Amino acid sequence: MYDNDNIFAKIIKGQIPCKKVYEDEDVLFFEDINPVSKVHVLGIPKVKCVNFSEFIENNDKEIVANFFQKINLVVEKLGIKESGYRVISNSGNDGGQEVPHFHVHILGGERIGPKINS
Ligand code: AMP
Repeated sequence: MYDNDNIFAKIIKGQIPCKKVYEDEDVLFFEDINPVSKVHVLGIPKVKCVNFSEFIENNDKEIVANFFQKINLVVEKLGIKESGYRVISNSGNDGGQEVPHFHVHILGGERIGPKINS
């Protein structure tokens, strides 16, 4: 069940500020408030979905494809396409998900260690 008051829903609605990296009508990318690497950006689709599986199962292919294409665009915009990066999505309890709105972490700007998960 999607919580309309989760922190990322509030960021989409502009009720909580964020440092925007990229936004259009379908997606929002912004800096993580507690970065674990030199570059740490979060990406969210604006549709209401709790986790990765919900996003994939409940949305048209165009919306899913567009989100992943926007990740690639942001990677380019961040200047980390050549140096390398990691895209992570934590799902559910075992995945270590804290915020119940599907999101990806884009980590880069330095060598990312093997165990880092957000
Ligand atoms: P996860 O554990 O995958 O759900 O990751 C949630 C991420 O959201 C963490 O890396 C937090 O640092 C980040 N976060 C929480 N609140 C905010 C906020 N207001 N602005 C930016 N990032 C946030």
